[in-house]
Amino acid sequence: MIRADLAKGLLNGAVLPDAVRAVLVQAQAEPGEQSDVAPAAAPVETEVETLAETIDERLHRVRHDARLGRRVNELPRLIGRAVRQIQDDVAAQRDGLCQGNEPQHGHPSYRPPAELRREIEARHATCVFPTCNQPSRRCDLDHTRAWRPGTPGITCRCNLAPVCRRHHRTKQSPGWRLHQIWPGLLVWTTPSGAWHIVRPERQ
Ligand SMILES: [Zn+2]
Ligand SMILES: [Zn+2]
Repeated sequence: MIRADLAKGLLNGAVLPDAVRAVLVQAQAEPGEQSDVAPAAAPVETEVETLAETIDERLHRVRHDARLGRRVNELPRLIGRAVRQIQDDVAAQRDGLCQGNEPQHGHPSYRPPAELRREIEARHATCVFPTCNQPSRRCDLDHTRAWRPGTPGITCRCNLAPVCRRHHRTKQSPGWRLHQIWPGLLVWTTPSGAWHIVRPERQ
């Protein structure tokens, strides 16, 4: 039963409505090369992977344009702006998805309920910093945007992720940013204008 509930929770958090894809696809200037998706892949994984790939393509294009325009020194700012733009593009869809028929989006408390904690730990087996192997149950559940009642920094599957102590400090270091674009789909940006995309249920 718990397993079924977890699966349902992951599904609720990860479905990518057509409208979101439309927003992202619209923003693509060129079709690029599409990688074939295995037909046996679960629909949820496919949707999130599509979003992740689209984000990556958009950021590559920003970097490409910055180099062409000799604005490499502005890269961190340009990449940061692009990630925030993507986040804004999908925000309404994400909020609607999380909120469902509930009167408000997210839980009123700072501390996530046990069920939500289990869902997040199932979604990410480890700290969401790339290459970090700290098991999620030994991490803090970090509010990607700092928690404040009535702001985007809510206690919800779209704003929580396991982050170990060490990488919590990284997150707070100058030039580092962490965005959660979709539940479980996170983008780290670095002081040099690089980025790392973290998928839900990464191995
Ligand atoms: Zn949410
Ligand atoms: Zn870590």
